Amino acid sequence: MSDFRLYNTLSRQVEPFAPADGTTVRMYTCGPTVYNPAHLGNFRTFLFEDLMRRVLALRGWTVRQVMNLTDVDDKIIKRALEQGKTISEVTEPVIVVFHRDREYLRIQAAEAYPRATDFIPQMIALVERLVSRGVAYQADDGSVYFAISRFPAYGRLSRLDTREIKAGARVLQDDYTKENAQDFALWKAAKPEDEATGAAWDSPWGRGRPGWHLECSAMAMDLLGETLDLHCGGIDLIFPHHEDEIAQSEAATGVPFARVWSHGAFLLTEGAKMAKRVGNVSTVQGLREARFSAAALRHFVFNTHYRKELNLSEEALEASRQAVRRVGDFAGRLRSDTALALGGTPELARVAEAAVVRAEAALFDDLNGPEALAALFDFIRQANAELDRRGGDRGSVERARAAFDRIDSILDIVPEREEADSAFAEWIEERIEARRVARGARDFAAADGIRGELTARGVTIEDSGGETRWKLG
Ligand code: AMP
Ligand code: ZN
Repeated sequence: MSDFRLYNTLSRQVEPFAPADGTTVRMYTCGPTVYNPAHLGNFRTFLFEDLMRRVLALRGWTVRQVMNLTDVDDKIIKRALEQGKTISEVTEPVIVVFHRDREYLRIQAAEAYPRATDFIPQMIALVERLVSRGVAYQADDGSVYFAISRFPAYGRLSRLDTREIKAGARVLQDDYTKENAQDFALWKAAKPEDEATGAAWDSPWGRGRPGWHLECSAMAMDLLGETLDLHCGGIDLIFPHHEDEIAQSEAATGVPFARVWSHGAFLLTEGAKMAKRVGNVSTVQGLREARFSAAALRHFVFNTHYRKELNLSEEALEASRQAVRRVGDFAGRLRSDTALALGGTPELARVAEAAVVRAEAALFDDLNGPEALAALFDFIRQANAELDRRGGDRGSVERARAAFDRIDSILDIVPEREEADSAFAEWIEERIEARRVARGARDFAAADGIRGELTARGVTIEDSGGETRWKLG
């Protein structure tokens, strides 16, 4: 079986990868902060991790993936306070949306989705360990900090030394409660807004809540053990999040926290980082309403290598929509009884084998999605030509089917008609309802605008007897 190679952020090199025990990959993936539905940027990272787990499984390993849900944090507390809710009232519905969007995108479920608020005792135990080892201290403000000057390996992942802000370097000390301005909070003393929103717990250091970095270390080690095979996330997490996860975990256990670190590059919109704070957000729901199927969105994401930045644009999404239409047409043809009855040629069997070899070699070489897609599209072109010859050999059609299924079991880019259609129908109904409301409010400009939106997508509407009907075309 081929070797599997992966870029390791720790060494800045592509290296051979295998799980420590030879069978199960223990993989931790930083999950969403659940205060707003995740945007396509977040999902680019989750799709990269979906590709990872599918390729690891294809290579023959069992995957045990844990993805945390950060359900307590500053933004969640702020949102809860604004809305007069508790943090769980804010996060529960967002978690439901997260899983709905994840399933829409055909992202396989992780083996566990731990919520930070369910692991408070484990987090407190980890802080106690760090305090007893003398690498953490409680400051005058009541919070507990990690003393990075007492962890010499600090900065190894992000190569902080080359950025000259290493621990001990002279920095402006504007925060006198901490020993060092770079020290980060493990446990944050409770403020009134934390108490008001249900974001405070008892601890040996008084009421408080965990820091974000601590959550991941405690949950990862509790569910996967002290040394993970693989830790993934978006590139923005390298510093400080992953650097701090390493510091806390390794200072407590004395063993490496993760053998390999893997980071996905960003999704940009017109060159700018996509983030919830800025307006350039595309939600999965929005993309669904715009009739982008999961297949098209997966194609769009996998068509750029995970370590390269990817720009979101209407044209690129449109191109992916066209591309997966070809995949769908081919799948339909290949799986038809007619294809089997007419049969294939020996050349069909040959190109099928070659496509599998090429796609697997690409995927096992640092998850080369674009090259795997190229192998698939070349195969589709060649196979269509061979099928046109009606070679009469059923066996070669069966081999072509098996080859196609094997490659698509990783990429998963055959569009489902109904899937795209029902999302579109939902969107149409929703727009018609918005138009009804606008008309009720005598806002005819808005109502006409909505009719225009529908027309632009090929939907004709007809009002009769107080009801609105729609049809396509
Ligand atoms: P958050 O919900 O902000 O904690 O982020 C969840 C995951 O999405 C993390 O792995 C981030 O690195 C990742 N992420 C956030 N923004 C983007 C983006 N624009 N492109 C790719 N990944 C992102
Ligand atoms: Zn994390």
